[in-house]
Amino acid sequence: MSQQSIPDLIAKKRAGGEHTRAELEQLIGGYTRGEVPDYQVSAWLMAVFLNGMAPQETADLTLVMAESGDQLDLSSLPNTVDKHSTGGVGDKTSLILTPMLAALGLTVAKMSGRGLAHTGGTIDKLESFPGWNPELPEDRFIAQAREIGLSLVGQSKDLAPADGKLYALRDVTATVESLPLIASSIMSKKIASGAQTIVLDVKSGAGAFMKTLDDSRALARAMVDIGTRAGRNVRAVLTDMDTPLGHMAGNSLEVQEAIATLNGTGPADLTELCVTLAAEVLLAAGQAADPAQARERAARALQDGSALAKLEAFVTAQGGDGSLVRNPEGLDVAPGRAEITAPQGGYIQRLDALSVGRAVLALGGGRERKGDPVDVGVGVETVCKPGEQVEEGDVIYRLYHRGGKGLERAQELLREGIELSGTPPEVKPLILDRVQ
Ligand code: URA
Repeated sequence: MSQQSIPDLIAKKRAGGEHTRAELEQLIGGYTRGEVPDYQVSAWLMAVFLNGMAPQETADLTLVMAESGDQLDLSSLPNTVDKHSTGGVGDKTSLILTPMLAALGLTVAKMSGRGLAHTGGTIDKLESFPGWNPELPEDRFIAQAREIGLSLVGQSKDLAPADGKLYALRDVTATVESLPLIASSIMSKKIASGAQTIVLDVKSGAGAFMKTLDDSRALARAMVDIGTRAGRNVRAVLTDMDTPLGHMAGNSLEVQEAIATLNGTGPADLTELCVTLAAEVLLAAGQAADPAQARERAARALQDGSALAKLEAFVTAQGGDGSLVRNPEGLDVAPGRAEITAPQGGYIQRLDALSVGRAVLALGGGRERKGDPVDVGVGVETVCKPGEQVEEGDVIYRLYHRGGKGLERAQELLREGIELSGTPPEVKPLILDRVQ
């Protein structure tokens, strides 16, 4: 088939046309190879931003991006499953869910990211275990997944390189907030990562990328549609991210809370989310007869200690000090303490998740820019939750700091995010919706 000129392809999208897979390969494949310049792709991105993309076109774009670099071949492993969260504050779900899935007989061979801005990353959290190594050669990565059901490494830069290039361009051309571009960006990496079953935790609210339920639902729908067209089993759960998940935000503190949850003594919201997501994975993978059985099996993996044992085996296999799974008080937690108390009595109306994420960042527990060092020991404990009644002087937040670094700014951010009122608020449920 003869190729069109790049200006013709841009004009087609400008007019609201629908690209073929071959056209997207020419444009985006060409861009990744350095054959199409930034300025032409910038114009095309803006045309997509303004005119959108059709479902098949979005799936084709995703596949072109997924095929732009290395793709993990997990076909030798049974029941491969993956989970993705669109990112939130205090979201330590992967630390709990992945060993649960391994304990349930599924195989998790997963790539995860590092934290950026106010959201954390699983790799940073796992580095709270001294010695834990986020890099494994591919043969060991596969062998470990086969032996213990869980291996997890940092995302390779050769995975969907088209996404890395496009994201950087979107960032400087005001085209990040485009539904098909966000959905294809996320799903290109998931599809290149090779799992047959993918469950998406799409966060919605003040601390999330998507602030409204409608936007979150549309993103979930687009991602499930892409995955299904690519032949994967995909489901999405929409979950609230107005308030941090659980109580802890900050790497070592989140690992401690994850271990408590694996011991059956974690916060109710976090436990509920992990059981819900594990049940969705079992159902999507065809490994449970019905939702009730799926939930029952998922809950049992927490109660019988099998998921905790998987975490210990996994941390040890990747060079980390696995004994800390049984003795989490030995993890590095910063010694400084400070508190934020209620300025008056009342009901907690709102505790802004974004403020908590930014406070952790101010204390040194996150990174403003890629490559910045992270202090795993600092963080914020959300002592009370929205809906609770407090008296003047009750502790709402506890800060874990290192020598007062960033403390004043963190306290200011946290105070700004507290809303108290005289009447009990309507508290949103954690699980907002499901898409499949
Ligand atoms: N996360 C991604 O990976 N890509 C986007 O475009 C937005 C969020």
